[in-house]
Amino acid sequence: MSALRFATHYTIRARFYSTASSSRMAAVTTENAAKATTAPALSAAALHASGPLRNDWSRQEIQAIYDSPFMDLMFYGAKVHRENFNAREVQQCTLLSIKTGGCTEDCKYCPQSSRYDTAVKAQKMLDTGEVLDAAQRAKEAGSTRFCMGAAWRDLAGRKSNFNKILSYVKAIRGMGMEVCCTLGMLNETQAKQLKEAGLTAYNHNLDTSREFYPKIISTRSYDERLSTIGHAQDAGISVCSGGIIGLGEQEEDRVGLLHTLSTLPKHPESVPVNALLAVPGTPLENQEYPCLRWSA
Ligand code: SF4
Repeated sequence: MSALRFATHYTIRARFYSTASSSRMAAVTTENAAKATTAPALSAAALHASGPLRNDWSRQEIQAIYDSPFMDLMFYGAKVHRENFNAREVQQCTLLSIKTGGCTEDCKYCPQSSRYDTAVKAQKMLDTGEVLDAAQRAKEAGSTRFCMGAAWRDLAGRKSNFNKILSYVKAIRGMGMEVCCTLGMLNETQAKQLKEAGLTAYNHNLDTSREFYPKIISTRSYDERLSTIGHAQDAGISVCSGGIIGLGEQEEDRVGLLHTLSTLPKHPESVPVNALLAVPGTPLENQEYPCLRWSA
């Protein structure tokens, strides 16, 4: 099993409480740290650090939290996290690419797109033995969640593969693990079938702000992404949705992404914040690594 296809990572769950900055909510910059010397006594991060769960954040509120001094973001982000989660606990998850490369989409950061000449070549979907063996190894290594990813646009015309995936979900749940999938766009029926099979969570990232999104992907719309998230949530599946930093976006695009996520009718249970890995052969191969920017 190659490292590409079998990677273990850790995730900390996040929710958008009144701060709109759970542990992952507000990104900061090195410049923000400098602002700390002149910032008002009470930052937006401090002001919003308590209160009920909200879905009605204004973009200005999110911007103000984003601009809060770094140390406030760290402190209040940790405070919200500790109020809602065991601060000494992380969940270990293992991610397996069950169908790698050959994707028809044009996500400019992705070496799995068939439109770009990269080292990643199209492979067939892994068979039952390979997937279940990997899940068993993940369990033995301490993972409590197993995630399966497939590089394709959606499940249209993939009935046989989808049925296999449903059987993988059932089998891995039977091992006592949580199961997550990332399979591109879902319709309502497919989301329900995944839920019935026992799926715990579905990953579908928004990637960036609505405004910047067309510069990164043209083959599916922002609204189609939101629609998939809605179908998963309506089916009762937890959602993992975040974005990528370093695509060439502006600070306002990061705020825009955070604003979209924090104003969804139901917040995602997990918000992954990825940093671009510029892969040779992709349109973003020469994109410079962003200066120090994190979520707090
Ligand atoms: S849909 Fe997924 S696999 Fe396909 S090009 Fe985009 S990021 Fe890559």
